[in-house]
Amino acid sequence: MTDHTFQTRLLHNEHKFDPTTGGVSVPVQHASTYHQSFDEPGKYDYSRSGNPTREALETTIAELENGTHGFAFASGMAAISTSFMLLSQGDHVVITEDVYGGTFRMIHDVLHRFGIEHTFVDMTDLNAVATAIQPNTKLLYIETPSNPVLNITDIQAVVKLAKANDCLTFVDNTFMTPALQRPLDLGADLVLHSATKFIAGHSDVVAGLAVTNDQSLGEKLGFLQNSFGSILGPHDCWLVLRGLKTLHCRLEQSQRTAEEVATFLARHPAVEQVYFPGFSTHPGHPTHRYQAEGPGAVLSFQLKDEEAVRTFTQRAEVPVFAVSLGAVESILSYPKAMSHASMPQEEREKRGITDGLLRLSVGLEHPKDLIEDFKQALHSIQTRHLFLDGRVKREIT
Ligand SMILES: *Cc1c(COP(=O)(O)O)cnc(C)c1O
Repeated sequence: MTDHTFQTRLLHNEHKFDPTTGGVSVPVQHASTYHQSFDEPGKYDYSRSGNPTREALETTIAELENGTHGFAFASGMAAISTSFMLLSQGDHVVITEDVYGGTFRMIHDVLHRFGIEHTFVDMTDLNAVATAIQPNTKLLYIETPSNPVLNITDIQAVVKLAKANDCLTFVDNTFMTPALQRPLDLGADLVLHSATKFIAGHSDVVAGLAVTNDQSLGEKLGFLQNSFGSILGPHDCWLVLRGLKTLHCRLEQSQRTAEEVATFLARHPAVEQVYFPGFSTHPGHPTHRYQAEGPGAVLSFQLKDEEAVRTFTQRAEVPVFAVSLGAVESILSYPKAMSHASMPQEEREKRGITDGLLRLSVGLEHPKDLIEDFKQALHSIQTRHLFLDGRVKREIT
């Protein structure tokens, strides 16, 4: 099966049909415990340690990431936090400064208490990464494209630095999914996902995944998954498996629309800047093109100020205004007040997360409807500014 394209392997994999009944959907096994014969314990004993529905998801994601060991967790953060438990007291992590907010919180506010130290760096700057590595550094942690301004990190270059310094490399691959980027093929040791986003794709399940192609790392992570116990329940595993089947066509469609929307926004006078790795003017474009098969379906853009953002989000009717991304419906979010609200303003602005920045995750709406909607919302900003300018002028004169 592995010589088929990714698109086909999403459907025709080891779990094409249930070997017991021939059913073409993986059965949901709700049992928490399993009858055992006294002399031969059997493959499953207790569902925290092993569950056939979870196993179907775990082997499927492992295969799609070209890994050997897959793990499904109760959330992306559960996958990430459990993976951090591979570290020990006294270890040090070099981590990208524009990492996902929950990962920032975990490493900054939790792991710190357990004696695991960290240095945040701009991972687009390889010299900064090399300089941050200490004798006790055990892990380089990447997110590319990053959130929300879509910076690109050269995975292979960071892996090279990691290997030279006896460190592991973890990559949060949530924005790309294995449909577009396979970090294990680029030398990374562990791939992490919030499957809540593109992988499940329908805004109806919270889930996390981790994959490695290293036997020893796989065994350690399996041990930690069972020890921590933040496993994904069987019904949620089934939802993720169902979402996975359409991953390729959802992403294809969404990223094509994202390109159209990004181009429209970039040409609009009310938009000051558009961040999209698909643009040849994006500083990370050549690296991204090398290591990924497409720009993805997330972009961010900058309006004049908070007032412009307020008008735009109140007038735009098609996208939902919410946190999260990677869904069938377009999601517009305001990083300053949502994902990065807990970050001090100075830190935020250093990362380009200004009062005027909006992030858009493009869904499956027709591109024309999205563009028309944004056109009228941006027009409202312009007329409002004209009105305000007029009023200010009258007040002055
Ligand atoms: C959402 C997200 C997470 C956290 O995943 P949850 O499923 O919400 O716990 C981690 N990394 C990235 C890049 C995300 O977008």
